[in-house]
Amino acid sequence: MNPLDKLTELFKEFPGIGPRQARRFAYFLLARNGGFSEELIESIKKLRKEIRLCSSCFRYFSLSNTTEERCSICRNPNRETASLMIVSHDNDVDHMEKIGLFNGLYFVLGGSLPILEKEPEKKIRLKELLHTIPEKIKQGLSEVILALDLNPEGEHTEIFLKKTLSPLSETHKFKVSTLGRGLSTGTEIEYSDAETLKNALKNRS
Ligand SMILES: [Zn+2]
Repeated sequence: MNPLDKLTELFKEFPGIGPRQARRFAYFLLARNGGFSEELIESIKKLRKEIRLCSSCFRYFSLSNTTEERCSICRNPNRETASLMIVSHDNDVDHMEKIGLFNGLYFVLGGSLPILEKEPEKKIRLKELLHTIPEKIKQGLSEVILALDLNPEGEHTEIFLKKTLSPLSETHKFKVSTLGRGLSTGTEIEYSDAETLKNALKNRS
């Protein structure tokens, strides 16, 4: 495969990028000066070296030294360990943090469940979640908040997690709540404004 085709194939792997856009990206790199490509290569290399997946909440975080296993949120002693918010994507955590309405801990599923998914553990971090919950129980967990997108996949994920967590929540007496329907249908957490999220969080049930 020639380098132009190879790069096009790689760009096609990106979410939402079709073959024509992928090709345009490849041509764009050819047209830009070499410095741009070098910077891109360096950034991609650094991404692997300097960003790590948090062993507790599974969000990506920037390392300040190489021995860190957990992100700044999970390491922060001032965060409330009684509430755990489950979200689909890293972007959802970033957005929640920017708004600053929530002071508990997070868990990032890394995706959501398509309606007819037969193997949920391939789409979301189910094993990791079920491993995390008992640890959180030891730290005084009293509520799990499902903060998932209001689209069919998000709703399906919500139903699935409620069912999965139900035996644990009964045994260990923690609540599983979902965001209030102040969010209108089709709304994604990442794009919700502060006021909407504030109401959704307040009206959770
Ligand atoms: Zn973390």
